[in-house]
Amino acid sequence: MTHPLDDSDGLARFRDLFLRDDSVVAYLDGNSLGRPLAASVDRVSEFMTAQWGGRLIRGWEEGWLDLGLEIGDDLGRVVLGAAAGQATIGDSTTVLLYKLARAAIDARPGRSEIVIDRDNFPTDRYVLEGIAAERGMTLRWIDAGEATVESVGAVLSPQTAVVVLSHVSYRSGYLSDVPAITSLVHAVGGLVLWDLCHSAGVVPTELDAWNVDLAVGCTYKYLNGGPGSPAFAYVRSDQQERMRQPIQGWLGSATPFEMGQGYEAAAGIRGLLSGTPPVVGMLAMRDMIAAIEEAGLDAVRTKSIALTEYAIELVDSRLPDAVLASPRDAGRRGSHITIDDERYRDIMPELWRRGVIPDFRRPSGIRLGLSPLSTSFAEVEAGVEAIAELAP
Ligand SMILES: *Cc1c(COP(=O)(O)O)cnc(C)c1O
Repeated sequence: MTHPLDDSDGLARFRDLFLRDDSVVAYLDGNSLGRPLAASVDRVSEFMTAQWGGRLIRGWEEGWLDLGLEIGDDLGRVVLGAAAGQATIGDSTTVLLYKLARAAIDARPGRSEIVIDRDNFPTDRYVLEGIAAERGMTLRWIDAGEATVESVGAVLSPQTAVVVLSHVSYRSGYLSDVPAITSLVHAVGGLVLWDLCHSAGVVPTELDAWNVDLAVGCTYKYLNGGPGSPAFAYVRSDQQERMRQPIQGWLGSATPFEMGQGYEAAAGIRGLLSGTPPVVGMLAMRDMIAAIEEAGLDAVRTKSIALTEYAIELVDSRLPDAVLASPRDAGRRGSHITIDDERYRDIMPELWRRGVIPDFRRPSGIRLGLSPLSTSFAEVEAGVEAIAELAP
């Protein structure tokens, strides 16, 4: 398949870095599970043979224990806009949300409110509902619409302890204004925990410059770490001393190998750790971080916008009954779009059978997730054409 937009795409050569399967005609779900890089096959294989097989337990002292901190620094430099010593890899996003939200609440004693939006991803809402119940706090919901300066401002109060929002909304793809909302929350004395699951690796992010307190995000989406690869967390350096996370495990303690009595948290980002790091699960994301560094995150964003613009153009011309549930303003949009049509639930099995792979989000949305380094314009066209054939 050739396409004029692919011919003029300066990042086209990066597509060759990814494994392909001929049965897949259009992979349009890079926001849910990124494709594997060929280099990761060698990296994991080498690790198993030479490191696990050859070094055995000695490997822990030769780099395994600190791998999450090392990759956290790489991620900070290439993707998050964070200086070293503020990010780490480990646990799932769900567990890291719990740890950081609890730490933030304890750092704001006497405050009784948590702010979150109804459109946030279920796990974010469920975790915060659990914490509110555990702590006897009140959830202040942003009931409808996106997390904007206005909608967030309307629910802030002197009681706000922490605000939990997504940088890019998992359904609509709406891109929130992180620096503006962060300073708004700071003005009432609250802390913000940003969920970067749908922006990390595709939207340039400047956590340090934006004065973000805390952030978490997935690595199996646009960071191509593989199914269930561990998540990342960011704690700004000047907040680290105050942040006490609740899952006190030996590897987050100041002296893990003394096996002593009583927990004392390790200084710095290390205090966020709990148990043994999931080493094998962290390996593959290194190849994607390297690819993003080589391409440059600004170039990745430029192609991301071109891909979503093209998808919207095709939706407008080929799917007259589809309702675009994503922003038309590219500046307020992440790297996926959602289109709604009542018929979409029924056509999903046939799309997947044909090797056209978007995903479905209730009640009636097809989500097209466009991962810039691995997705071609031809795939976008083939995907929309297939939808047009099945639901004209
Ligand atoms: C994908 C996603 C998650 C997933 O959390 P896990 O613990 O990895 O299952 C959480 N929050 C958001 C906003 C997401 O997009």
